[in-house]
Amino acid sequence: MRTWLSNVVAATRTLAEGMFVTLRTFTQTYRRGTFTGHFAYPEKPVPIRPRYRGFHRFDLTACIGCDKCAKACPVDCIYIDKEKAAAPLKGFHVTGFTIDYTKCMFCALCVDPCPVDCLYMGSTYDLSAYTRDSCLVDYAKLPLAVAWGPATLDPPAVAASKTVSLPVWVKS
Ligand code: SF4
Ligand code: SF4
Repeated sequence: MRTWLSNVVAATRTLAEGMFVTLRTFTQTYRRGTFTGHFAYPEKPVPIRPRYRGFHRFDLTACIGCDKCAKACPVDCIYIDKEKAAAPLKGFHVTGFTIDYTKCMFCALCVDPCPVDCLYMGSTYDLSAYTRDSCLVDYAKLPLAVAWGPATLDPPAVAASKTVSLPVWVKS
């Protein structure tokens, strides 16, 4: 009888504790409002942390085509096309700098080896697309203000870059 009573007391106490947690969470949620009440994407996006790793920022005018970022990438998702600069110039012209975002895992291992600091993780997280091809972003075909600027990528700019055949450093 004593065991039965202690089991009933333990069960009642456990139930009360569980209900207290539920009730406390419910009232907290009610007081602070819902998440969607504060943020309404895309008009009011969720703020991000200063060290957030979003889609890359890339400065084509500084890149020397050394391939160090591509070699550091653990999933081999950076594809660099380059051609030798005509004499008397030295080095390479980068004609393509494509990152495959179907493979990229935003680890930032490509950023540190860059000797000229022209590749960073940006703050953009919005590159929604309906096709896999849209996830291949050729930074050499994007306007510099989009590829390197604080606004970085946006889907219309990436879609427009698919129709560009020459890298942006080639003057029309
Ligand atoms: S963030 Fe990581 S996975 Fe993405 S391109 Fe850079 S090294 Fe590769
Ligand atoms: S490491 Fe930097 S300079 Fe070298 S290819 Fe990559 S982005 Fe260009």
